This record gives sequence, structure tokens and C-alpha cells, in this order.
Amino acid sequence: MARRKKIYEGKAKVLYEGPEQGTLVQYFKDDATAFNAEKKAVIEGKGVLNNRLSEFFMTGLGQIGIPTHFIKRLNMREQLIRQVEIIPLEVIVRNFAAGTMAKRMGMEEGTALPRPVVEFSYKDDSLGDPLVPEEYIIAFGWASQQEMDDIVSLALRVNDWMSGVMYGVGIKLIDFKIEIGRVWDNEFPRLLLADEISPDSCRLWDIETGQKLDKDVFRRDLGNLTDAYTEVARRLGVMPSNVTHAGPKPTLIN
Ligand code: ADP
Ligand code: MG
Repeated sequence: MARRKKIYEGKAKVLYEGPEQGTLVQYFKDDATAFNAEKKAVIEGKGVLNNRLSEFFMTGLGQIGIPTHFIKRLNMREQLIRQVEIIPLEVIVRNFAAGTMAKRMGMEEGTALPRPVVEFSYKDDSLGDPLVPEEYIIAFGWASQQEMDDIVSLALRVNDWMSGVMYGVGIKLIDFKIEIGRVWDNEFPRLLLADEISPDSCRLWDIETGQKLDKDVFRRDLGNLTDAYTEVARRLGVMPSNVTHAGPKPTLIN
């Protein structure tokens, strides 16, 4: 492969310089992390699945008019994306209490919320991604009030589409996290859905059995993560059910 400039290596992905100005190549690693990277593992096949699933979700969302950074998938592990200025927030949408909300509020996981709730945490591992009020975001200049209003409506549209698609394949969308970025049309900022949407960034429960099909399988040692993600991909028709994720083994040539 041609040498190319690595721009950033994060916990789950690597960003390389793209072929054209304003583009990046996003490489999906097999690394899994949880609890702000205190727990780590390499899970074979995860990157391939997340690349395909993120492509599927971003493409579908694009088709209902949500602007995304996705341009095209390049291969099993890489996709071409538009480079954005990331707003340093995790935008979280919750339909049911789980994870930190359940803990913080003393609620049982799976309790239905009266309406979807959008919240923001500051993307900073060393601080543990603390929850931040909109006031902080505006005061610190991370986003304008207009952008925050746009982010909330974008997040709710993503939630409606994602919930419906998941419901159609027997999965409850408990919550998810997205990242939003900014691109400039001359001096006018425009928001794009960026980063990834995958079972790493969603909570997905089987409607019938309550079985978890997301990163909680890894966080809580509930079984094989690749199997769970493969099940999501299979139900969505993103991957044929007979694909094995182990790459071809090298063969000895005499
Ligand atoms: P992290 O460990 O920081 O979450 P990841 O492994 O998720 O990193 O790698 C993706 C990084 O790239 C994240 O920091 C994310 O904010 C950033 N990113 C995602 N999409 C884009 C984009 N379109 N342009 C620029 N940066 C992006
Ligand atoms: Mg990330």
C-alpha cells in the first residue's frame, strides 16, 4: 500500500490523509476499549463489521437528507470521508435508561423514557467525558446557540430513523452517541454527521429476548462481541450470514 500520512490514531480508528484536499481515509481497527480505555482488547473482525455498519447507517441517513461525512467505502476496513472540524462533544440520545444515566439517576436499565433525551458530554478521556450543560458549550465557544439547536434536531432525526430501522429487524435502540463536525462553505458553517455509527456507539437489545448486541457485551463480559455485531449486520442484510472474519491464513510455498 502506498505510504500515506497518518493524521490521528484514536481508540477504534485511524485517520489518514485522503486523496483530495478536504478528505480523509478512516480505517477501522479491531481494538475495543471501554471505561475510558481502562479495559482493552483486540477483537478480530470488529473493524470490518463497524466499517460496513457505519456505511449502512450513514448512507441511509444521507438518503433522508441528513448530511454526513461519508463519501464511499474503499475496502473492508476503510472508508473515504469528508474532513470536518469536530465539535468536541459526544451527542447522546436516549430512549430507555441505561449505562451512566441509569446509574446517575438510580433507574433500572431498560426503563422507557417519556420522550427521547439528548445530552452532551465533553469528549476528553482524561476527564472521563463529563456531562456538560449547553451553557458550557456556548460559553466555551465549542458551538453557537444556532448550531446547538441544529444539533438537537439532527440528533432526533437520526434517532427516529435508527429506531425505525432497528425495530424492523427486532432490535430496540436503547441509546446511541454521535459526533458532529463543521465544514465551511465560504464563511458559512455547515454541520455534518461524522465519526461512526456502529454497535460500538449504540445500545441495541433484542426485542424478544433482551439480549445485548452492542459494546456492552465487551464492557460486561457477556460473550463474543464479533458474534453480536455479526448478528446485527446479518439482520440488516449488510453482510451475508456465512462470512467468516478471519482473514486468509498465509500458506507455505515450497
Ligand atoms: P477517539 O479515541 O478519539 O474517540 P477514534 O478511534 O474514534 O478516536 O478515531 C476517530 C477520531 O476522528 C475521533 O477523534 C473523531 O472525533 C475524529 N473524526 C471522526 N470523523 C471525522 C471527520 N470526518 N473529520 C475529522 N475528524 C473526524
Ligand atoms: Mg471514538
